[in-house]
Amino acid sequence: MIRWVRSVSLVAISALGVLVLGALTPMPQSPRAGSSLSSGSPGPRERTLLFVGDVMLSRGVGLIMKARDDWAYPFREVTETLRAADLAYCNLECPISSQGRNQHHLYSFRADPRTVEGLKAAGFTVVSQANNHTYDWGPAALLDSLDRLRAAGIRAVGAGRNDLQAHYPVVVDLGGLKVALLAYVNIDPKDATAGIDRPGVAWLEPDRALADIRFARPLADLVVVCPHWGVEYAAGPTREQVKLARSMIDAGADLIVGSHPHVVQPLEEYHSRWIAYSLGNFIFDQKNPSTQRGDLLNVLVRGKQIAQVTRIPLRINGNFQAMLAPPRQQVPKTAAVARSPLPLPAQ
Ligand SMILES: [Zn+2]
Repeated sequence: MIRWVRSVSLVAISALGVLVLGALTPMPQSPRAGSSLSSGSPGPRERTLLFVGDVMLSRGVGLIMKARDDWAYPFREVTETLRAADLAYCNLECPISSQGRNQHHLYSFRADPRTVEGLKAAGFTVVSQANNHTYDWGPAALLDSLDRLRAAGIRAVGAGRNDLQAHYPVVVDLGGLKVALLAYVNIDPKDATAGIDRPGVAWLEPDRALADIRFARPLADLVVVCPHWGVEYAAGPTREQVKLARSMIDAGADLIVGSHPHVVQPLEEYHSRWIAYSLGNFIFDQKNPSTQRGDLLNVLVRGKQIAQVTRIPLRINGNFQAMLAPPRQQVPKTAAVARSPLPLPAQ
């Protein structure tokens, strides 16, 4: 019953004005999908997976939370939406820690330990730590962050105590539906890469990632790959990204969820699977208006198959809170999806 009520709230959100991709492209058919509708019994169980982009809880965002002593403040306007999902994911673009040593990157982020309470209260169940900021305060802060997330019951993907942990898929069991997640980064500093006996992130090396996907495939019903990649502020992916994303799908991934450019990039349907090249920002304190928008990717799973992928526009308000936004009128993204798969960008 609770699940049903939650579903209704998500449908209502969809009705606010979103791009329902199922309407533009043929619905993928799966031999695994149930076909018991004619017998009068309920159809395959539906679940909702939500994905958002970059979440940075340091700098200006951290100051506001601290001033208000409210560690869930950035998420308050979207908490109901996130908590309604069976799985809610973000790219956590900072370590959550009181430890470590500032590596003095161009921007060095480290979030107050109490922010993990906010992430938890917001409903996030899986976060990626495979990005170019989780090593801003070195290995001690990264390991502390992973420990704190684990203690809060939030699964972290794409980083670990060593190379094996960083590359090992996180498998989430949603009451019979198993979702495997992998996350990678190929944005410097490359010395944040995990080693055989060294904490760090999973570096996005194509052959290794494809092998990881093939390893994860039999462990789960769905495989989701979350690369932190691309060109900051660019309108779309590079030719290499498009080719790599498609090869990941060919290797067995069902969904690719990208981040890092800080702006929203196109969503592509490829062989009845989905590639979101960049979801833009979710919580960040950047100034350019294009960085104050993002997409919430609403993935409806029917039975054990992705039935529909919907983009829900978001904006970040002046207090760095994520909000559901009115539908965008821009044509380019729609056009890009309508002629899926994307033409390979010229280089
Ligand atoms: Zn980044």
